[in-house]
Amino acid sequence: MPRPRPAPLWTVGGVPVQLRRSPRRRTLALQVRPGEVVLHAPTRTPEGTLAAFVESRREWAERHLRTFAARQTPAAQWYDGSPYPFLGETLTLRLVPGVRQAQRVGNEVHLPPGPDLAASLEGWSRAAALPLFRAWVEEYAEALGARDRLGRVALSGARTRWGSCTSRGDIRLHWALSRAPREVARYVVLHEAGHLLELNHSPRYWGHVARLMPEHARWRRWLREQGHTLWPS
Ligand SMILES: [Zn+2]
Repeated sequence: MPRPRPAPLWTVGGVPVQLRRSPRRRTLALQVRPGEVVLHAPTRTPEGTLAAFVESRREWAERHLRTFAARQTPAAQWYDGSPYPFLGETLTLRLVPGVRQAQRVGNEVHLPPGPDLAASLEGWSRAAALPLFRAWVEEYAEALGARDRLGRVALSGARTRWGSCTSRGDIRLHWALSRAPREVARYVVLHEAGHLLELNHSPRYWGHVARLMPEHARWRRWLREQGHTLWPS
């Protein structure tokens, strides 16, 4: 059964700080990645100490978040009539004056013309992909007999990984997987759902994955060789 999730205790530069406690940890560390801040802490460190630590690193963390954001220059690859990949389909972008917000119409995505095409496309892709991804995660969790271990399913924008699964069963998937072939996105979903059973990459873990997707190695290879083409450039 999904457990209730507490709201994040702090935010840094508008990004919620994710708290990861571990019995093996002895020290505090704040990790900053594009759009993501994680506080690693020993299990029993009191909240006041954590808060003071976050404050002491706040300026440093905000500076890093700003640097990451500045590196993400807007893509110039989208224009009226350009093809847009969405989970194996090729949609066509249309810049339509008067449209307030991106929306799908048949095989087209209608966007408001303007300088923020990349942002409105990301917004549309996230909204369109999340319900699908969530349904796939639930489907695989069910098939693995791990439905009761599943926590929250959310999208991420962290450039360093396609997906993640925490020990609490929270699964995050990169929104840009919506631009991948359907099977590739489904492989990443299964990969993370498999971690509900095994939080490692042991032979047992791969056994679970292979049982539901015998050809998984093919999609892993696709990600390794072509995954970079999905990143927002
Ligand atoms: Zn993994």
